Amino acid sequence: MKKLVVASGNKGKIKEIKAILGDRYEVVSMKDEGCNLDVEETGSTFLENALIKARAIGEYLHEDVISDDSGLMVEALGGAPGVYSARYAGVHGDDALNRKTLLKNMQGVTDRRAKFVSAVVLYRQDGSFVTGEGETLGVIIDKERGENGFGYDSLFLSDDLGVTFGEESDEEKNSVSHRSRALSDLIKKL
Ligand code: IMP
Repeated sequence: MKKLVVASGNKGKIKEIKAILGDRYEVVSMKDEGCNLDVEETGSTFLENALIKARAIGEYLHEDVISDDSGLMVEALGGAPGVYSARYAGVHGDDALNRKTLLKNMQGVTDRRAKFVSAVVLYRQDGSFVTGEGETLGVIIDKERGENGFGYDSLFLSDDLGVTFGEESDEEKNSVSHRSRALSDLIKKL
């Protein structure tokens, strides 16, 4: 079976990609391949960033690589935090501070509509690539609910599930998630 390297160390993402592509590829993490490359995400869209990551790691490892980039887009904030989702509060990856910043910026806002967006790219050794995009809709509530998930999950009340992503199991969340939808979109094109 052909090897596919996931350009991420996130166990949840690797599990999700394995569940969807595991029958076509031997899915491994970049760490399994001895790669800790930290690729700067300089793109202005999720798709650009996913491609930058997949290409950099693919060229480094000389393997097929799948990469995703995702984030939260809030209607009343003009699509913010968008590609800055992981560093909304200024520090990269501080989820609690990012949620606090979001709540502060949403104070008094009545239009609470938001979506999670994901772009995935499968970059092949020959330089060709396939892309997939997905989104999932919801609203931003004014107080955290649920302990599961990560990032903005506890503030995102899913239209599909009727509860926040923080209140659901991984399986339930993945059944409607932006990432699983982007992966399904990509699979259709393989
Ligand atoms: P990345 O695509 O893993 O770099 O995600 C960027 C940022 O978007 C994360 O740090 C989270 O803040 C946010 N994010 C992306 N996907 C999700 C999700 O499924 N739930 C909650 N937050 C997410």
